[in-house]
Amino acid sequence: MNDVAQRLHHVLERIRHAERAAGRAPGSVSLVAVSKRQPVSRLLAAARAGQSAFGENYAQEALEKIPHLREYRPEWHFIGPLQTNKTKLVAEYFDWLHSLERLRVAERLSRQRPDALPPLQVCLQVNVSGESSKAGINPSDTVELARAVAELPGLRLRGLMTMPEPSVDPRRQRASFATLRECLERLRETLPQLDTLSMGMSDDLESAVAEGATIVRIGTAVFGPRREDVSVASTHS
Ligand SMILES: *Cc1c(COP(=O)(O)O)cnc(C)c1O
Repeated sequence: MNDVAQRLHHVLERIRHAERAAGRAPGSVSLVAVSKRQPVSRLLAAARAGQSAFGENYAQEALEKIPHLREYRPEWHFIGPLQTNKTKLVAEYFDWLHSLERLRVAERLSRQRPDALPPLQVCLQVNVSGESSKAGINPSDTVELARAVAELPGLRLRGLMTMPEPSVDPRRQRASFATLRECLERLRETLPQLDTLSMGMSDDLESAVAEGATIVRIGTAVFGPRREDVSVASTHS
């Protein structure tokens, strides 16, 4: 087995173990392999090992990689900050968007989603760490935005995503993830179809699964260190 296949296997074991520890059904947590700033060769190794969902943060970089994985037909998840001038790329090439924060962006995506494709699956990104982190909307603003997004024909609102302030303390990790879980529970009183909690990364996936994550987004634990020195990963490793 190659390096990526081994790491992927280990991450899947961690997820299965966390599901068991939390008394959750096997397979109730799915893995998005976060491949930003990773070379295409590593994505191909993961795809050959059976990984079928990839997360990217930069639209232009993703566009260069997507054709190389066509034969595997993976799901593409956009998880980074989305600028208004990049919505069309996400609407045309992605299956999911985890980082929705603004109604104007949602309306553009809905208009730009091609008729031939199913609605874009979306999560609202919520800031559960207060002022210490910039990305994401305030928990108290989720109801209003969720109601408006749920009306848009080109989108299918699935739930909430968060990326909390990193902490090595499992109690603090769990407190952040619990905030997102409670936020989804409140939303489900009016939007019972919502079923997704996108939370948990390489260093805190166990805490996220314990608090109800349905999707974990794992980068370095699957692919190894990212190339922070290049803006676009080359096709060679
Ligand atoms: C990079 C990134 C991840 C993965 O982080 P790792 O620590 O490498 O697992 C997950 N979610 C988002 C939004 C990211 O930008």
